[in-house]
Amino acid sequence: MRTAQSIRRWPSTGALIAPVVVALVVTVLAVAAFIIWSTRDIDALALSRQTSIVSQIFASKLQEIGHDQESVTIWDDTIISSKLHSDRKWVNDNLGRWMFDYFGHDQVIILDEQDQPVYMMNGGAASSIALFDGERSTVAPLVAQLRSKLKDGWGAPYQGSGNPNAVPRIADLTLLNGYPAIVGVMPIVSRSRGIGKADTPFLHVSVIFLTNRFALTLGQKYMLEGAGFSGAALNSSDHAFYPLFNAEGRFVTFFEWKPTRPGGRILNNMVPAIAAGGLVAGLLIFLLLDRLWRSSTALESGRRQAEHQASHDMLTGLPNRSLFDNELKNALATRQAGQGSVALLMLDLDRFKQVNDTLGHQAGDDLIRQVGQRLEGTIAGAGRIARLGGDEFAVISSNLASADAAMALSQRIIDALAQPFSIFGSEAFVGVSIGIVLAPDGQVDASELTRKADIALYEAKAGGRNRAIIYEEVMDELVQGRHTIEAELREALRRTDQISVMFQPLYGRNTGEVVGAEALARWTHPKFGNVSPTEFIPVAEGAGLIEILGDMVMRRACELGARWPGHTIAVNISPPQLRNPKFFGRVFDLLAATGMRPCDLELEITEGILLEDERVTSEALRRFRAAGIRIALDDFGTGYSSLGYLKQYAVDKIKIDRAFVSQLADDSVSVAIVQAMISLAHAMRIEVTAEGVETREQMSVLLDMGCNTFQGYLLSAPVAAAALEAIFEARGEERLAG
Ligand code: C2E
Ligand code: CA
Ligand code: CA
Repeated sequence: MRTAQSIRRWPSTGALIAPVVVALVVTVLAVAAFIIWSTRDIDALALSRQTSIVSQIFASKLQEIGHDQESVTIWDDTIISSKLHSDRKWVNDNLGRWMFDYFGHDQVIILDEQDQPVYMMNGGAASSIALFDGERSTVAPLVAQLRSKLKDGWGAPYQGSGNPNAVPRIADLTLLNGYPAIVGVMPIVSRSRGIGKADTPFLHVSVIFLTNRFALTLGQKYMLEGAGFSGAALNSSDHAFYPLFNAEGRFVTFFEWKPTRPGGRILNNMVPAIAAGGLVAGLLIFLLLDRLWRSSTALESGRRQAEHQASHDMLTGLPNRSLFDNELKNALATRQAGQGSVALLMLDLDRFKQVNDTLGHQAGDDLIRQVGQRLEGTIAGAGRIARLGGDEFAVISSNLASADAAMALSQRIIDALAQPFSIFGSEAFVGVSIGIVLAPDGQVDASELTRKADIALYEAKAGGRNRAIIYEEVMDELVQGRHTIEAELREALRRTDQISVMFQPLYGRNTGEVVGAEALARWTHPKFGNVSPTEFIPVAEGAGLIEILGDMVMRRACELGARWPGHTIAVNISPPQLRNPKFFGRVFDLLAATGMRPCDLELEITEGILLEDERVTSEALRRFRAAGIRIALDDFGTGYSSLGYLKQYAVDKIKIDRAFVSQLADDSVSVAIVQAMISLAHAMRIEVTAEGVETREQMSVLLDMGCNTFQGYLLSAPVAAAALEAIFEARGEERLAG
């Protein structure tokens, strides 16, 4: 039980696996979050880089437009004065189309000193200056700004090596006619003179519309995918929008592109690897958990098995004694609470030992198993069965309210177990004795109840087996008495002054002929006085004291027998003595030690032992008879009266029980029985002794029937050894004299 409890302290499987799974999920989530966060971070960084590139693109575009214009706005004085005013073709070729062809500018407008348009190019060809009307108001502020810049003058000549950057210019983002555009305004100046303070030069206005085609060129150049312009920013994660403002901070348009997502790409590239890795890790963890689950399940079932084993009998699978004790306690507690009754049945198989001895231990085990099954079949729901050990079983029932009901169940059990058992091909018969106790009202102790059931069982066994007996209080007193006797007998056997041996002479057919004597144990207790052997012999047998006692009697008998060869000295032998393998040797030791002849010794055994221990007994008897020791069957006719046994065991003598002898005078049936016994015995050359001959009538009837020897108060009561020797001596002298 201790191991079962310590195993129970292990955490359960679920408790073990849950934290592992939680830890795993948390780890996976954390890793995923980290990966997503870091790729997002990379994307955000990339976006901010691209955004700053975009802002630089437009900043430089504003400068570039001026550079583009520089190539056509710095001329010689003559060209400015002559061509500009009159040569329209030249203006178109050099100031207009040039810008379209080489720089991709969409429009060019030339403004005169009064800021009136004198020329206009649109889409690579000269166009009507009327087109400028819609744009004039937008361009005007830029023109005004430049004019005010120019007021201070720009005197340094530009000789080719000069810095064209020094030429004042204006460039800005605007909405021209509603279309976003970059507009550059530059003076058309003299290469040699520059611009004087009073000069009002012509102005060159160049326009680049922020079209999607333009955006595409930008995109190709700066590797911005999906570049374009849009008036509104979509709330889209795969498009970036960069707002473009003019110099005054007014919104113009959005530059739109698909930002590169290196993080996303990394993630995309990583996904299969991560998925594969995750799959493998998941698989490994699954296998690990499965292993864990299995082993912990195995542990759990091992624990249950250990628990079961600790509380159940291996052979039958029935509850064992410790579980039985618990169940009995529980049943009593339930009853205490006012529910139901408790009946306890103690079962003990009657002939189990023989089966075990004759057929072997395996057969014994098989028998116990079958008995367990039969009990289960018989009792079914009527009670709980337990195997207490050996051939002992118990039944606890909570629904047997009356003694009659308990008896009825017991009878069913007895009937069921009386049927033969088939063991290893041979039939075995066993019986069962049952002790019953019904828990009385009031508080009862489980062990007290068990003790009482055991007493009833003892009574059932003593009363002749295959029966059930209900416990009664008197039995307890008997048991108490037996306990007292046992203690006193133990003490008596340690001393020499209480136990003695008496001898009852055996007489032959001729008057006065003494052929031998029977040794009878006597116990004179200082307080109880003479205790009858019928009382203390069974106690001695039960307490394992019979061997000491038997030894004592045998020694006295042998000592006497050695002095009187030719006289048969009979000694009563109890079953436990005969069963003891050392008994045979012990008898011969005593014969040798005392000098008694084996042929003068007679062992008296009862029928009971023949039934109980067939194999052991027949073997022992065979050896004794082979050594010349005589065997007498005592109390013949009282037990199973098995005349058949006579032949089987080949005894030398039967002793007709005094119960038959005492009825000889007035019961013709007894006469017939005794006559039959004597005839049968004689037919088998078996000698017959009549016991308990008390009257002359009995004596004469027995003589007539041919009885061989006689024993009884009529002839002589048991006497002390000295008195017996006196009788032997007197009869011997008489015989000599006669
Ligand atoms: P048992 O072997 O049948 O012994 C004969 C019993 O009958 C003796 O009783 C004896 O005193 C008594 N008896 C003798 N003649 C008469 C008579 O005319 N009328 C009546 N009514 N009784 C007579 P005891 O000595 O009380 O012994 C009782 C039983 O105790 C014996 O029965 C025997 O079975 C057993 N016993 C006695 N001594 C020993 C012993 O040393 N060893 C064993 N194993 N058993 C013993
Ligand atoms: Ca006897
Ligand atoms: Ca007898």
